[in-house]
Amino acid sequence: MFCRLCLNDRELCGSHIIPEFFYRPTYDTKHRAYELELATFGERYLQKGYREALLCKPYEDKIGKHEAYVAQMWYQQGVLPDEMLADSLVICGLDYARFKLFHLSVLWRASISTGRMFERIALDADAERIRQMLLSEDPGDEDQYGFFAEVLVDDASPRVLHELIMQPLGHATVANWVRIGSDSSGQTSANRRLANRRAAWP
Ligand SMILES: [Zn+2]
Repeated sequence: MFCRLCLNDRELCGSHIIPEFFYRPTYDTKHRAYELELATFGERYLQKGYREALLCKPYEDKIGKHEAYVAQMWYQQGVLPDEMLADSLVICGLDYARFKLFHLSVLWRASISTGRMFERIALDADAERIRQMLLSEDPGDEDQYGFFAEVLVDDASPRVLHELIMQPLGHATVANWVRIGSDSSGQTSANRRLANRRAAWP
């Protein structure tokens, strides 16, 4: 079988699309998560996250290093609070390359997955560009496949819903307004590029 990342003919692993550590808070004491399909009200229990034979062991391990970093930062350092007491949250000091390559890897895996859960994610030509970035471990510039995150919060309290995972939705967004922090020395390179691009707009 051909590895979808390095394209070599190798034995493939059962790769997670979304890493297992994100599912952990959803499991009950019997290691079961409850899945509800809103369109049909279909419901079932899952005992493992979605997996598919996509990657060979060397590249599964390579991506696994980015996953280990994010799992450690997210759950052991606890950068995400249990309650959201403000409208937004700024998290600094991340390893840019690992954090971004990790998220690109999830997006890319979702795009090539044949699972129904990921049917709304289609990257077209970007899938090949992202595959090459993952292969060469090149996270790209700040404004290349940049992303933002939303925190899911309980309706009735500021409690962060660590135990809820939603189906990935494929919205391609073109932002009209972007706010990017700059450091004490002035503008970031992303600021400068956006300013240049704005100057070029009609
Ligand atoms: Zn491979």
